[in-house]
Amino acid sequence: MNSPDRDLQGYLDQLIDDLRDQDDGEPNPLPVHANADLSRFAIAVVDTDGNVTASGDAEFAFPIQSMSKAFVYALAIECLGLAEVNRYIDVEPSGEAFNRIALDPGSNRPANAMINAGAITAHSLVTGPDAEHRVDRILALLSRMAGRDLAVNEDCFSQEMEDAHRNLAIAHMLKTVSELPDEPHGVVTGYTRQCAIEASTIEYARMGATLANRGVVPGTEDRCLAEEHVRHVLGVMLTCGMYDSAGDWVSTVGLPAKSGIGGGIIGVVPGRCGIAVHSPRLDQHGNSVRGILAFERMSEDLGLHVLR
Ligand code: GLN
Repeated sequence: MNSPDRDLQGYLDQLIDDLRDQDDGEPNPLPVHANADLSRFAIAVVDTDGNVTASGDAEFAFPIQSMSKAFVYALAIECLGLAEVNRYIDVEPSGEAFNRIALDPGSNRPANAMINAGAITAHSLVTGPDAEHRVDRILALLSRMAGRDLAVNEDCFSQEMEDAHRNLAIAHMLKTVSELPDEPHGVVTGYTRQCAIEASTIEYARMGATLANRGVVPGTEDRCLAEEHVRHVLGVMLTCGMYDSAGDWVSTVGLPAKSGIGGGIIGVVPGRCGIAVHSPRLDQHGNSVRGILAFERMSEDLGLHVLR
């Protein structure tokens, strides 16, 4: 690990201290999240040279959940090209909850790849004969970005599969209107495994830093995504990454980002760094309460808003 920036280190330590007493919100009810230590709090920053600065429980691994959507969307575009993926998934903010069972009435496409309907479609577009191969490809990409071999948290996967009716309903709905290249159960199995992949806050920041570094893993020569694909994905993350609070997020924080119900948020400062925050208590949109507060403070204090 490269040496941390001392000023930034002090700043992150202070931020964790300032927000630690904030205990609004509830964790996601899935046992793997609900029974987690709710006091956990971590912030990590990885710059485009690979320098790591982190505070709190930043080496603790937790499920990626919806943060995976940004990377799997990028991978689907790498596999099929943007024009082909656009045929299946639109790029419009939906203003709806992430798990809404609906498609755009005009085009019969999911509104974007950051909500479940679009993310389940994106998962199915990763080329491979079945769920296992698709998940292997996704694991390989995320592992390259994280810098170590990641794995699926099997408890998280089986707990979520036990009650996957909503995502199955979405997949069946998709199957009726598009050429989803697998049967709905296989697609939801693969998507749920994708969501159960675990990494630490530092590793999530490294994934964000790969997007900030236009597709090259920071500190390496490893290009894992094409620059023009990264730019497209960052645009969708900026406008759609925080679900039905995306407008609020753009006005206050102003960074491409993606949240997950495990309490993680990955933010990207293009050309500069990836930032990840972890805290399990969520607001009504399913976004980490302390995570949002931390990003609001960082955006203001460090001048990170992309329209600055
Ligand atoms: N696995 C979760 C789901 O599909 C992910 C949701 C999220 O993190 N917002 O419902």
